[in-house]
Amino acid sequence: MMMDGTIGVNKPTIWFADEDFHDADEPYLPELYKESFHAWYEDARDMEACQYGMFRLYSRSASIYSTDMPEQHKLNASDWDETMNRLAMQCIQSEAYSVLLEQGVQYSAIPVTRRKDRKVFAAFIYAVNERLAISKPELEGYMKHYRVHFYRVFESVFVKEIMLQKNLIDKEATHRERLFLISKRLYDQIDAESVVREMLHSLEELYQDSEIYLYLSQDHLEGDSRVRPLEFRNSANDIVTEAFLEGKCCIDREQPGYIRLAIPMNGKQAAYGVLCIEINMVHWDESDLPAFMLIADTAGSAFENAKLYEQSNLLINELRIINEMTKRLNQSLRSREIFQYATAELLKIFAADYCCVLQLDRKSNEFKVRASNLEVLVGKTYANDYGFTGVVYRTKEALITSDYKNTKSVSSELMEDTNSRSLIGAPIFVDGEVAGVILVTHRDANYFSYDNYKLLQVVSTHIGLAVTNASLHAEMRKMIITDNLTNLHVRHYLDEEIQRKQRVDAQGSLILVDIDFFKTVNDTYGHQVGDRILIQVSAIVRSSIRNGDIAARWGGEELAIYLPNVPASRAVQIAERIRIRVESETDPKVTVSCGISEWEASHDKISVESLFYRADMALYESKKNGRNRINIG
Ligand code: GH3
Ligand code: MG
Ligand code: MG
Repeated sequence: MMMDGTIGVNKPTIWFADEDFHDADEPYLPELYKESFHAWYEDARDMEACQYGMFRLYSRSASIYSTDMPEQHKLNASDWDETMNRLAMQCIQSEAYSVLLEQGVQYSAIPVTRRKDRKVFAAFIYAVNERLAISKPELEGYMKHYRVHFYRVFESVFVKEIMLQKNLIDKEATHRERLFLISKRLYDQIDAESVVREMLHSLEELYQDSEIYLYLSQDHLEGDSRVRPLEFRNSANDIVTEAFLEGKCCIDREQPGYIRLAIPMNGKQAAYGVLCIEINMVHWDESDLPAFMLIADTAGSAFENAKLYEQSNLLINELRIINEMTKRLNQSLRSREIFQYATAELLKIFAADYCCVLQLDRKSNEFKVRASNLEVLVGKTYANDYGFTGVVYRTKEALITSDYKNTKSVSSELMEDTNSRSLIGAPIFVDGEVAGVILVTHRDANYFSYDNYKLLQVVSTHIGLAVTNASLHAEMRKMIITDNLTNLHVRHYLDEEIQRKQRVDAQGSLILVDIDFFKTVNDTYGHQVGDRILIQVSAIVRSSIRNGDIAARWGGEELAIYLPNVPASRAVQIAERIRIRVESETDPKVTVSCGISEWEASHDKISVESLFYRADMALYESKKNGRNRINIG
């Protein structure tokens, strides 16, 4: 019925109705004969012909299928057999209907032909008592009835086969789709560890009945027993080594019950490891091999990508650290600050336990701990050949120790006191010489990586530059605040220092020193001698005061000394000492006059100007009263 209710003129075409089997299918036919013959017999069993005689089917390859032999003929069975065989051969060869009568039995045979090319593929035979003999058209009818069954079974097998093929294709498509998904998932991983885990997970999911291991050449994952280090020792026959070295898949079929596969995990730049799969022989399918190789290849590339990504991330991170450190280091112009900052940063960068920065004292040739998070070490000094510092100083190179406990190549207080096992150290260079050493330690063995060691080297270079910078700055500052001729401070430095101290101290005194008749000295001996006298007087002043007192050239031949936290009564004694020494030590002999002033926090007016003014007034008094004397303002 068509959709519009009319009856269709064309029969619906069943496309496989035109299909036929081929000569090449011969080996698959016996089942078909058997099944179709039995099906036909089931159908035909009740017909008279089946009850009185016996039908047989002879295939070209001489397999025989028979209906039951009627009871009354069973005694002659062997005669029937022989004759039927002969007739069958004749029928197949001649491809024609044949009939013969023998001892009261009619044997008739008719060829069975293929439906498409009419080629004879079997002989259909009937044997019966001659009284019940059948005609050719009758036999043909039985044969055609059988052939209908044959093709019905054939079509069913044919369709079944197609369905099977389709299923197989579907299965393969699903398989490929899963592989594709795996590759995609592998590429989605951004760290090498995840690539490895993803690959193992996917494989385990796909091949559930197998043992899967990954041998990695570089690093292996902590805590994953499936990932093992790739070792080459005494493994001449091992397929894992072979796969890695040859870069191709190796199969070991020697193991009883299972197959071992070793597939190299190659990237574009290097081989990273070997995937090893042990599959139960029962589940082994050679055609899965390309899939394994594809996954290993994909994992290799993904692993490589992830590694490169990690490396560039590491590099970027290092550059960021260095950049930040340099910026911070260069902001600082005091070496102590630099060392302290470096210590704190290095502890952070490496997540280390202890850090220690030592500086070489050029005079004593000893190393002094300038900064450390181990407080007891700060300020300690060591001979320049002691411990790891000594090694770095001697070799001028960075060093790495992975387990101090087991090697103990040198004795080290730092390592002993802190129970450290890992260490990285690097020299700090200033002007091409080792000026200091950085030591970073951790209590775990094998803690620092090669990358850590390289980074410390780079960082120490920058610390060296910062220290150089700081010392240049210190020198320059010293130059700026020092008077060239007398080596005393310059006047503005004294001004600033007094102002600073007046903010924090309770009191202080100022002594002004003026050489008497200095004009006459110049006039008598010349300016050069005058300068020498000025230098002599300055040296006397400097050696007459304490550290922390500040002596400056106030102007011309006038000097000024500020004594923090000293009252005028005490300043007089110091001025007196200077006065006497100048008188006795200068050559040619000169004398000095002094004016002293003082301030106390309780006074209401304590400006620097007033301090100088009062000292100047006092000095004037000394001059007026005959010189070579001291007066307090
Ligand atoms: P007095 O202070 O006792 O009153 O007499 P004086 O001769 O020292 O007086 P005055 O302060 O007027 O002269 C200071 C002289 O010191 C003038 C200048 O030639 C000399 N003088 C100033 N600075 C220098 C210097 O750096 N080197 C030399 N050689 N002489 C200097
Ligand atoms: Mg003078
Ligand atoms: Mg003067």
